Amino acid sequence: MSALALAVSPDHFIGGERVASKEHFEDISPIDGTVIAEISRGGAAEADAAVRAAHAAFPAWAALGPQGRAPYLHKLADLIDANVERLAEVECLDMAMLLRSLRARVISRGARNYRAYADLAVAYEERDWRSNGTWNRVQRMPAGPAAVITPWNAPFMLSTWKTAPALAAGCTMVLKPAEWSPLSCSLLADLIAEAGFPPGVFNIIQGIGEEVGAALVSHPLLRRVSFTGSPETGRHIAVAAGANLVPFTAELGGKGPLIVFEDADLDAAARKAAGQYDDSGQVCLAGTRLLVQDSVRDAFLQRFHAYVDEHVLGDPREDATTLSPLIHPDHLARVSGFVERAREAGDTIVRGGTRAGGLHYEPTLIEPRSNDAEVVQREIFGPVLTLQGFATEEEAVALANSTEYGLSGIVYTSSLGRADRVGRQLRAGTVWVNTFLVRDLTAPFGGVGISGIGREGGNYALDFYSELKALQILE
Ligand code: NAD
Repeated sequence: MSALALAVSPDHFIGGERVASKEHFEDISPIDGTVIAEISRGGAAEADAAVRAAHAAFPAWAALGPQGRAPYLHKLADLIDANVERLAEVECLDMAMLLRSLRARVISRGARNYRAYADLAVAYEERDWRSNGTWNRVQRMPAGPAAVITPWNAPFMLSTWKTAPALAAGCTMVLKPAEWSPLSCSLLADLIAEAGFPPGVFNIIQGIGEEVGAALVSHPLLRRVSFTGSPETGRHIAVAAGANLVPFTAELGGKGPLIVFEDADLDAAARKAAGQYDDSGQVCLAGTRLLVQDSVRDAFLQRFHAYVDEHVLGDPREDATTLSPLIHPDHLARVSGFVERAREAGDTIVRGGTRAGGLHYEPTLIEPRSNDAEVVQREIFGPVLTLQGFATEEEAVALANSTEYGLSGIVYTSSLGRADRVGRQLRAGTVWVNTFLVRDLTAPFGGVGISGIGREGGNYALDFYSELKALQILE
């Protein structure tokens, strides 16, 4: 199926207009390897045009204030809700997330993101107080044009999550989606136009990270850079933003622990552990290191294997499918490379460890020979979990905190005291106890260590996209 058949524009969206590049790149569906679009391959000229459009649109957008901006975000949210089916179909074809998840919750979360931030920005009152004979106020000034760079694994959800606070806070935007899944953001551009955003407020450019992405993040007219992706790319972008003294925020990779204590509901823990293979493990927040107390290892594993056996690898458009193909042949090679190196190094492949046709990979469990093993210490971003045992709570916490990452952690225990103790000790931006992926959009979201810099979520993100001014008037 071609972009024409999909009726998705392959072009950039700059200053409210579609703009084509001379060069294009192929967008391939992971479902069957067909080329579904030839996408405009932007470079320095497109990045410059988009930032200049955002720069020109900034004063009027900033002057609207939160109340004046909110109706645009609400309108965009309504249009997303009205187009769930189409967005879901395109996203499924483009990056193979399960169609039923996209229809049921993932796309509508995009609408929720814009609504939540429209309302949060209006409700976020300026603080004023008296001290030392002056009347003081904290004023939030919109920061200026912002760049947002997003990864391929949840392109629509993450692009809306990251652009909503920027727009609500009064920044204008240039969004650069990932080259492996560019289509849903192109549809988003259509909805931005339909929602009536002033031209230049929200621009979207397509292309390769090292080309248009690098040109974008080093542009001197930007006042904020926000990135979600790998720590490796994060380092490059941090350097570019740093060179221009532009505040930078990064949501990076994860290698979360899923800790199962002997007092846990083992069935619930095993079901959730098997659920870490969802989206074929292409989830930054996944608890990919199973840490299971020795006394319940066998009982846990028996249940875990039974739940993993229920997974069905297949076409993400089919209702019966629970595990989709991986995004790209290069990514499949990367994932299977981790497993092959583990095998050669003497780690035990407990289950899986093989390709399963097309871009599918079997759900895999590896028992490493030591905590230093590559599969324990590095993010794989595929359906590969590791299994390690522990005897005491202290040991569990030490293992959980033993990687450079610190995005998330999951704990299963029936003791509230232990939940509190362990939860407090984990070095992570988010910890879930007896649950996973439950999100309150006002909570801080981000990573510790190489999992990120700064926090998204609620007013934390609104502050990032603002300059805070202390205004002090002698009384
Ligand atoms: P990636 O770092 O390869 O690419 C992310 C984005 O950066 C893409 O749009 C890419 O085109 C762009 N890019 C690449 N090089 C660039 C450069 N030099 N300058 C500017 N932009 C550049 O990441 P990916 O493979 O798309 O995504 C997977 C990674 O994202 C994993 O590490 C995953 O954990 C992480 N992730 C983190 C979160 C989170 O919230 N913490 C969420 C989803 C994914």
